[in-house]
Amino acid sequence: MAARTIQVPQWDSLDFSYRPTGYTYVQEYKGCWEDYTLSQSSDHRIHQAASAINYGQGIFEGLKAQRNKEGTVMVFRPELNAARLQDGAKRMCMQKVVQKQFINAIKLVVQENHMFVPPFGKGSLYIRPLLLGSGPKLGIGPAPSYSFIIFVSPVGPYFKDGTKSIRLKIPEDIHRATLGGTGCIKAIGNYAPGMYHVCKAKEEGFDELLYLDARNNKYIEECGAANFFAVKSGVLYTPPLGGTILPGITRRSVLGIAEVLGIPTEICPLEVSDVFAADECFCTGTAAGVTSVGSIVYQDVESVYHDGAVGPVTQKLRDALQDVKSGAQHKLLEPFYEWNMRVG
Ligand SMILES: *Cc1c(COP(=O)(O)O)cnc(C)c1O
Repeated sequence: MAARTIQVPQWDSLDFSYRPTGYTYVQEYKGCWEDYTLSQSSDHRIHQAASAINYGQGIFEGLKAQRNKEGTVMVFRPELNAARLQDGAKRMCMQKVVQKQFINAIKLVVQENHMFVPPFGKGSLYIRPLLLGSGPKLGIGPAPSYSFIIFVSPVGPYFKDGTKSIRLKIPEDIHRATLGGTGCIKAIGNYAPGMYHVCKAKEEGFDELLYLDARNNKYIEECGAANFFAVKSGVLYTPPLGGTILPGITRRSVLGIAEVLGIPTEICPLEVSDVFAADECFCTGTAAGVTSVGSIVYQDVESVYHDGAVGPVTQKLRDALQDVKSGAQHKLLEPFYEWNMRVG
């Protein structure tokens, strides 16, 4: 095959969109996991009767690699993504990827694409593992074979102006997840059902939807792909996971960091009225980091936080998380140094 040359992007103009890189990790399961390959193609052959594309038997992950000041590339808490992918595999009757296999694959794909990891402070390399039922299955049931693919893409901020606050809408009878469903794993099928509603909300000038629980239509759950937090009188609140909320690694990390920073945390159900009475709100996710919420609309009533500016607790947590992820050396953040896996 002729060698390809892929341009390294302009680091200053990175946004959250797909850009080609050098290599993709590909591994097939056919009775056992075969040897991996590093593919230079962004296309993958898949059987037309594959359970992933017919029935949604597929899960994904999202994590990031970034450079510290010295230029060392680090991946944030990959063992938690490994564990979550295993939980998802079990729920979706898929062949699992064991932790060592996952971590080695992440290391390898990042090392092979090291030139696409942005310089310190310019963004990160987004890592997207996919586990798909790739063998033919006409009757509904688990596929006979699986593909474990990891592609990467250098990214900047998720929301257009990453430092600004976003505008959320709480829809009245639209839900993301139900009890007994797959809201607590990163199933590929979880996202398409919301696209119609999110597109409509974007036309109305919102950035995302903030979903209520499906059973009571009352308790705040999360945003489309980010967990939700509120701050009231210095206390940090977030809803309990409960099977319908995706257990975010950023959520878990922010709760850990808040404790060390002396910010009291409380995991409890939040109603719309609680959120409207809050001093600050923010969302968390690997893609979005800590994203300040400037306003929330529910039934045509709008609650604005800090005049749409970033609140002090949000700012503090955002900075601390960013410092931890970029390997900053603060005495206070020492307990979190081990969260970064160095890959070279
Ligand atoms: C991935 C995801 C999140 C955030 O999880 P992180 O591990 O923090 O990236 C939150 N909600 C949903 C629905 C998600 O898919």
